[in-house]
Amino acid sequence: MTGRLTRTLVAAYLREIGIDYVPAPPRSGEETAAPEEAAHPGGETLEEIRSEILACRRCPLCSGRKNVVFGVGNPRARLMFVGEGPGEEEDRQGEPFVGAAGRRLTRWIGRIGLTRQDVYIANIVKCRPPGNRAPLPEEAAACLPYLGRQIRAIRPALICTLGAVALNFLLGNNDRITRVRGQWRDLDGIPVLPTYHPAYILRNAAREHEVFADFDLLAERLRSG
Ligand code: URA
Repeated sequence: MTGRLTRTLVAAYLREIGIDYVPAPPRSGEETAAPEEAAHPGGETLEEIRSEILACRRCPLCSGRKNVVFGVGNPRARLMFVGEGPGEEEDRQGEPFVGAAGRRLTRWIGRIGLTRQDVYIANIVKCRPPGNRAPLPEEAAACLPYLGRQIRAIRPALICTLGAVALNFLLGNNDRITRVRGQWRDLDGIPVLPTYHPAYILRNAAREHEVFADFDLLAERLRSG
């Protein structure tokens, strides 16, 4: 499935915003990359993807970044989280979810008996949008192929999207997070569970019990698979 996930993500998204999609041929080596130590057979490593992203200038967000915020965690994680994009603290440290919202996410992960080192955490966009605004569609479209490659390198058993932006860009839909949180979706055979963004819960504490229920679903599915 090398390359297919990226093309699915980009195609779905571009269709959403009304752009006709013409699939690009696989980049040289994309389908046949020589296996490396940590790579799945025929795949690429996260380090290979990271080294490419560090020089990325695919969208204007590159000009405001202090650091590219690639992703963090276990390259063989069974559970992967996808957020929206780096905030100020993440941009400063070069790591996703290290501010107040990140501390809440870390607590949720701990609640199901895991640590940040057990899971993998990444974002839709790897560079900080100015003023912490949501990524623009063209910024997300430019960056989504990297996320697709991260997902293929990790091959998580489950993905959990955090907030509406991650849900809508990853799955290429307009679903409302309040309607679909806690309901399994599918991304090329990978079960995806949308839940709320921790920053939203910091402002709406009364809804945290819903996130707890969603994390229980994640834990249950990890146990059963
Ligand atoms: N919010 C996100 O969506 N991602 C981060 O990395 C930090 C805050």
